[in-house]
Amino acid sequence: MAGRLIAMEARLYAAAGAHDGRTWRRWRIAERREETRDVVSLVLRPLDDGPLPPALPGQYVSVRVRMPDGVHQLRQYTLTGHGADGTRRITVKRVRGAHDGEVSNLLHATAAVGTELTLSAPFGDVTLADLDTPLVLASAGIGCTPIVAMLQHLASNGSPRRVLLLHADSSRDGHALRQEMETLTDALPGAERVFWYEQDGHEDGQGRTGRMDLADVAIPEGATAYLCGPLPFMRHARAQLVAGGVAARDVHYEVFGSDLWLARS
Ligand SMILES: Cc1cc2nc3c(=O)[nH]c(=O)nc-3n(C[C@H](O)[C@H](O)[C@H](O)COP(=O)(O)OP(=O)(O)OC[C@H]3O[C@@H](n4cnc5c(N)ncnc54)[C@H](O)[C@@H]3O)c2cc1C
Repeated sequence: MAGRLIAMEARLYAAAGAHDGRTWRRWRIAERREETRDVVSLVLRPLDDGPLPPALPGQYVSVRVRMPDGVHQLRQYTLTGHGADGTRRITVKRVRGAHDGEVSNLLHATAAVGTELTLSAPFGDVTLADLDTPLVLASAGIGCTPIVAMLQHLASNGSPRRVLLLHADSSRDGHALRQEMETLTDALPGAERVFWYEQDGHEDGQGRTGRMDLADVAIPEGATAYLCGPLPFMRHARAQLVAGGVAARDVHYEVFGSDLWLARS
């Protein structure tokens, strides 16, 4: 059994392009872009010219950083973009509060063009399946990151799929990657979008006011849904999608932390 499990693990690493000791690679920040007050995107270029491990839309990398006390910390960040030149992008929200998040704040404070970071190969099984079913992509806050990767994949393939993009945020200014979400849905012939802003939505195409409410949103029949955001948001969106006719088995979700959702619902 041990032999079988070791072989299975080796196959998983190989499938992720992380075999032959290539799980961890060094990357250099080629560009830093302030998306909002609390969100920054980092475009990364590999330091070596070995083949890049493949990445599926929705996958994340682990970023390994050395903290000021010398301890190494790992955090996961979804890949929000790929350049034809081999660059990759992550988008990091600074976690603020009574206890500021360690790694996100360190990255915000220190990640500059030229800074080197250690990244794992891409992993994650909440990825967009290439089917022709209609899609509902629903996110809140920084949960937009896997959704943007999925939209990029659809747009780069010229997908004719019906796509309903739903996003909720505190404010229009705080909505990271908003312009990209708009450009990508504009480029997709079957896509429409609805945004909700708690503070400053307007019923003029700029976003609705308040929290996401799907009661009067037409959910496409036979849709597959992908959700990402805080747990209360995902519970609510999932319940409304299921009430709107989406099969529970077709609702996929990514949790940016330990997965306590099913245990609690
Ligand atoms: C699959 C996956 C993909 C992800 N993708 C993204 C992404 O694309 N973008 C993104 O920004 N994030 C993403 N995340 C989240 C990211 O990995 C980190 O969890 C996030 O950046 C916070 O890390 P941190 O080190 O800043 O916070 P941490 O230091 O780990 O703190 C986490 C939380 O604990 C609280 N806390 C810390 N210390 C204490 C204490 N002593 N007492 C009480 N509370 C405390 C903090 O306030 C914070 O709310 C993803 C996570 C996963 C699992």
